[in-house]
Amino acid sequence: MVATPAWPPSSLPRLFVDEALGDGLLLTLDAAQANYLGNVLRLGAGSEIKLFDDRTGEWLARVEEAGKRRLSVRIEGHLRAREQVPDLWLAFAPIKRGRIDWLVEKATELGAARLVPVVTRRTVVERLNLDRLRAHAIEAAEQCERTALPELAEPQKLDALLRGWPAGRALHFADEAGGEPLAEAAGPGPAAILIGPEGGFTDEERSAILKLAEARPVSLGPRILRADTAAIAALAIWMSKAGDWSSSPRFRGEGDHPQ
Ligand code: SAM
Repeated sequence: MVATPAWPPSSLPRLFVDEALGDGLLLTLDAAQANYLGNVLRLGAGSEIKLFDDRTGEWLARVEEAGKRRLSVRIEGHLRAREQVPDLWLAFAPIKRGRIDWLVEKATELGAARLVPVVTRRTVVERLNLDRLRAHAIEAAEQCERTALPELAEPQKLDALLRGWPAGRALHFADEAGGEPLAEAAGPGPAAILIGPEGGFTDEERSAILKLAEARPVSLGPRILRADTAAIAALAIWMSKAGDWSSSPRFRGEGDHPQ
């Protein structure tokens, strides 16, 4: 049976715009996007692209005018509503620059709803450039076809995080000292995964975390994983057990057929 090619093709360029989109809207893209579409992809008037706004969902748009530094598009149709990603937070001690960019990119692809940098005693990274991290989250969302961007929270100290912990949100505390396998602990409902710094949590921090009613120590196996590896492994386990990986339409034969 010849597969009917999906429409519009998922290969269309896909960009995030930070304004509410709507049918018939004419908008001018920013200089970087204009350069990317016009000069890198060499799109001209009439070319189709996909846009999403993290508000109303994903839209089909057509290039109206393409100049060297300016490019305008007109919205032609609504493609998908903004998705409801599983209610999972990733709370993590900031790690060095390259690795934290990679972590944000991967956490976005894996479906985390909120990214919470947590400053712990052994956190070595002083300052976080949230604009740069947000740009990495946007690029990852553009690539992995998310229609909802992860929320990127302001960094906060561990004790402040624990003091303000929302009742009823499970806290899966990734503890290399041992705990229940995450695959057994993960369950439906609001949850968070907490990953420590490369130097690990101090014993005082460990006991403060375990005082929280919602906190449970979880294990990610017998080996000591680097912080970014631990975060990705934990997200994958939770998403496959309690997230949206088992319900994705892509894997029930609807719409695009994975090649
Ligand atoms: N303190 C540790 C050490 O140096 O012995 C290593 C910390 S590890 C590099 C960074 C963080 O990843 C830990 O704080 C923990 O949250 C998580 N992690 C690493 N391996 C883990 C495992 N096997 N089970 C649970 N969490 C783990």
